[in-house]
Amino acid sequence: MAKYNDSKCRLCRREGVKLMIKGDRCHTAKCAAERRPYAPGQHGHARKKISDYALQLREKQKVRRIYGVLEQQFHNYFVKADKAKGITGHNLLISLERRLDNVVYRLGFASSRQQARQLVRHGLFIMNGRKVTIPSLLIKAGDVVEVPEKHRKIAVLTEAAQVIARRGLPGWLEMDGTAFRGTVRALPQREDIQTPINEDLIVELYSK
Ligand code: SF4
Repeated sequence: MAKYNDSKCRLCRREGVKLMIKGDRCHTAKCAAERRPYAPGQHGHARKKISDYALQLREKQKVRRIYGVLEQQFHNYFVKADKAKGITGHNLLISLERRLDNVVYRLGFASSRQQARQLVRHGLFIMNGRKVTIPSLLIKAGDVVEVPEKHRKIAVLTEAAQVIARRGLPGWLEMDGTAFRGTVRALPQREDIQTPINEDLIVELYSK
């Protein structure tokens, strides 16, 4: 599987937004996007006129990187979103938001989606009573994601309540910190996704 091994902070600087890939570091003064708010590389300071295509491409890359999804996977999400009822751009973002790794991140069990992905792969969660190891699983309303007793001493998992206090919990999720249990109250809606994203640009890109 293709893997991006270069500096993650360069991605934020390239997209011109904080993608929050590095967890706690993203909330500190060490954040590279804040210290150097221009594109990486020799010509990072140069002001370029950006074509419509470049804007669309950048938006797609931005969203792909926020959710940590590979190119082909992202395209597959788009194809499904396009076939589903409703607004394609909304469907796309909602599918990404429904990923299990994103839910684990939103519940405060991980400091970044990348970390959430690792924790899921290591089998640290159960969903509806069964062990899950697939970060791309799509959650449904009523699903319950919890940490089994034997993993409840792992530091990052015990900090969920503090993480939520800092970051907030979306209204479509419910969290019982003492039981290490999160419940999906309802499927997320477009307005629940606060990250500044212009999904219309992505739809335009793929509709060419
Ligand atoms: Fe992006 Fe986080 Fe690095 Fe800041 S610290 S540039 S938000 S990955």
